[in-house]
Amino acid sequence: MKAGFAAIVGKPNVGKSTLMNALIGEKVSIVSNRPQTTRNKIAGIMNGEDHQVVFLDTPGIHSPKNSLGSYMMKSVRTAVEGVDAIIYVADAGRELSERDLDLIRKYIAEGIGVIVAMNKTDEVTAEKIFSELDKLNGVDGISAVVPLSALKGSNVEKVRSELLKLIPEGEYFYPRDMITDKTERFMVAEILREKALRNLNEEVPHGIGVEVRKFRERSGAEVVDVDLDLICEKQSHKGIIIGKQGSMLKKIVTQARQDMEKLLGVKVFLTVFVKVKEDWRDDNLILRQLGYDKKED
Ligand code: GDP
Repeated sequence: MKAGFAAIVGKPNVGKSTLMNALIGEKVSIVSNRPQTTRNKIAGIMNGEDHQVVFLDTPGIHSPKNSLGSYMMKSVRTAVEGVDAIIYVADAGRELSERDLDLIRKYIAEGIGVIVAMNKTDEVTAEKIFSELDKLNGVDGISAVVPLSALKGSNVEKVRSELLKLIPEGEYFYPRDMITDKTERFMVAEILREKALRNLNEEVPHGIGVEVRKFRERSGAEVVDVDLDLICEKQSHKGIIIGKQGSMLKKIVTQARQDMEKLLGVKVFLTVFVKVKEDWRDDNLILRQLGYDKKED
């Protein structure tokens, strides 16, 4: 029996969430075609016949610009402490930078096994992939380099088998039917944020947050009441989120409710209010309320 911890690391948008979901086979993390929606450390758990690997997903590596940015940097660092393996995901269509290589060297120097996953091979030519693979020859101690397409599912099994080589023998950490260590409260907030970001495309920039006002199971009935605030930075954004005669908000809420019902397996009564909180990203108090827990720092 093997059991251990792994972190999936890499720049925003390279496909970390997609890869984790492909490995786990269930949707636990938030995938969006916009960067940095996976802001919290989300643990997904990969259970197999004879193994359990707990993933600490990280929000991507980037330079901090405000308090949310620096919080995210910290969570990148804390997420890799004490893991048995790191899957370093890179986009095969983009150049591997010196910074990528330095980070990989740093993890190896810390004694952590590193698998480099060159993702999105469905989008690039073999030549391009080979030239990136060449660069990795200059880094000693990489456990494996795997070209793959997380989206199409090709070579995901190779990532799994290489990962398991780095995981020690041991007892399982969590019950096998558990897919995440995040609470349902957190998950419903993430679902709403994902639906909002997906539907709003580029119209509302990153300053969208969700606050949970109520999460209550009705006793005796298979019903959960969920009240959420959808928080944006500007009055003008609020108008866009609500849409013409409430049409955009209605669409977001309907999609979110359907996913919540799937997740919770019960009927969900979802109420969403749109609120404006200027500069919430620079306000640590509000960050805390939104669930970016700073206690672990
Ligand atoms: P993260 O920010 O690193 O977690 O990246 P996501 O998993 O959210 O993926 C970012 C975008 O890349 C999404 O639109 C994914 O559908 C897309 N993506 C992920 N993996 C692949 C892949 O193998 N091929 C292609 N073509 N797109 C992918």
